[in-house]
Amino acid sequence: MNIASRIKDIKAQLPTGVRLVAVSKFHPVEALREAYDAGQRVFGESRAQELSVKVPQLPQDIEWHFIGHLQTNKVRQVVPLVNVIESVDSLKLLRLIDSEAARAGRTVDVLLQLHVAQEEAKSGFAPAELLDVASSGELDGLTHVRVIGLMAMATFTDDETVITGEFAQVKDTFDTLKKGVMAANAHFAEISMGMSDDWAIAVKYGSTLVRIGTAIFGAREY
Ligand SMILES: *Cc1c(COP(=O)(O)O)cnc(C)c1O
Repeated sequence: MNIASRIKDIKAQLPTGVRLVAVSKFHPVEALREAYDAGQRVFGESRAQELSVKVPQLPQDIEWHFIGHLQTNKVRQVVPLVNVIESVDSLKLLRLIDSEAARAGRTVDVLLQLHVAQEEAKSGFAPAELLDVASSGELDGLTHVRVIGLMAMATFTDDETVITGEFAQVKDTFDTLKKGVMAANAHFAEISMGMSDDWAIAVKYGSTLVRIGTAIFGAREY
């Protein structure tokens, strides 16, 4: 199968309301163009430098999502290029995105990254910590970011019970926020979870954005 047919195949399986983020990191611009020509408009990149090189080479109606760990010294570079920063893993980063977005004269949509996986290396807020942050009022004064939902990654494992438990935890946390402190925030509606190997499980647990790389573009060459 080629890129176009893989995209078509995945999209045919996604329920209405679930969007596909084509994760194009480490793949050349030609591969992204092939996806674009197949109708794909949402792309995910994880490195500031690579994003900066790719964006000017591709059509302007692409919706770019930043999905990697964002270093504070790269925020200024990334903010003007993206529609959504999915990987906000600290309040410090969130505040910096807010001030850089103000400086750039725009508003950036963000997802707060939840740490539910067993791997320590994955970043994000612990669920309890996120509930604390959200109810502390710390998100209220931000003027140039819109918190539109949560993002998470499951543990890299074949054990479906582990993955299922983690996605369920994300959904629970989202629901708690949605019914509680985020109730008045109509924009708070997205759950980004599910990758090439676990997106079907993620969708069952309420994912609205699946981030799929390998299953579209093939293996990455690092
Ligand atoms: C690379 C990456 C993906 C895509 O992973 P695949 O297994 O290639 O589908 C999704 N989310 C994040 C945060 C990533 O870094």
